[in-house]
Amino acid sequence: MKNPLKYVRKNLLALAPYSTARDEFKGGDISVWLDANESPYDNGLNRYPDPHQHQLKHHIAELKGVRPEQIFIGGAGSDEAIDLVYRVFCRPGEDNVVAIAPSYGVYSVAAAINDVEFREVQLRSDFSLPVNRLLKAADSRTKVIWICSPNNPTANAFPRADIARIAEAFEGIVVVDEAYIDFSDRGSMLDVIDNYPNVIVLQTFSKAWGLASLRLGMAFACEEIAQIFAKVKYPYNVNGPTQKAIIDHIINSDISENVSEIKKQRELLANSLNELPIVKKVFPSDANFLLVKFDSPDSIYDYLVENGVIVRNRSKLISCEGCLRITIGIPEENARVITLLKEYTNKE
Ligand SMILES: *Cc1c(COP(=O)(O)O)cnc(C)c1O
Repeated sequence: MKNPLKYVRKNLLALAPYSTARDEFKGGDISVWLDANESPYDNGLNRYPDPHQHQLKHHIAELKGVRPEQIFIGGAGSDEAIDLVYRVFCRPGEDNVVAIAPSYGVYSVAAAINDVEFREVQLRSDFSLPVNRLLKAADSRTKVIWICSPNNPTANAFPRADIARIAEAFEGIVVVDEAYIDFSDRGSMLDVIDNYPNVIVLQTFSKAWGLASLRLGMAFACEEIAQIFAKVKYPYNVNGPTQKAIIDHIINSDISENVSEIKKQRELLANSLNELPIVKKVFPSDANFLLVKFDSPDSIYDYLVENGVIVRNRSKLISCEGCLRITIGIPEENARVITLLKEYTNKE
């Protein structure tokens, strides 16, 4: 069994974290709160929130089938967890990370912010995972390998066995970003965190849960790593209304219907796109978007924008030449895209 603390920056192992007023409160029947210099005037927002998000973690643990001690919650979305990965494991100017390409842009931006070398390994031409090349790109200063599955923007999920092989062979942290996992028929890697203490799984409430505005992201890992994350994060990193709202959604919402509808619409949109002569390829998708290859992506992009529809132009990314990324919308929105693409075809 790997020792996850081996990869943590030495200054953090010894860190005594900031202790909030509410950390020092050990429970008891308190009715007068004069410990945190809060305003005494109750407007529903005058008290500091729980810095450890106990209740929220309890609900997330139940939802995901993990223990609360294995959860880190970010109040700035998954992006907060991504930044923490660098701050916890990588020494600026010394260490490096390896990532698949093309993939989510935040990994490289956060690397640059933290002055960490970012090594990209191109996916194979069918967008499958180049396991051996990823492992070969790592050296003794590689602290992290980034894997996004389902991958943004290529839309495909990787086989669990491939990811497990990397986690076994690599002497460092493997982060698996599962922002789109709810739309995939391949299973999550969440169930391996007990056996692989070097694996961190990222998930979010921004996509399938439809709560992007709340900015709530999660990292799941062994308890040792989750504890280090808790020491390094800003003390009150998840605000009170967000903690309440997410608990409310976990208790009262069922996302399965929306997820199946998105998957159904994904197939319908892919079929309609495949019938259009201007479409060169629709890539298979395990996510809530389609990567679509066109002959003239820029002019199609402009045409859609002129007509009030915005998609993501990914045509300048290596391996995504010619591609636009189209999020699955409601049926009327998807139909609008098809109508406009037909109009564009007839104009040509
Ligand atoms: C959308 C997305 C996220 C989610 O980010 P949040 O900050 O949680 O909204 C994470 N990773 C990838 C690859 C994404 O596409």
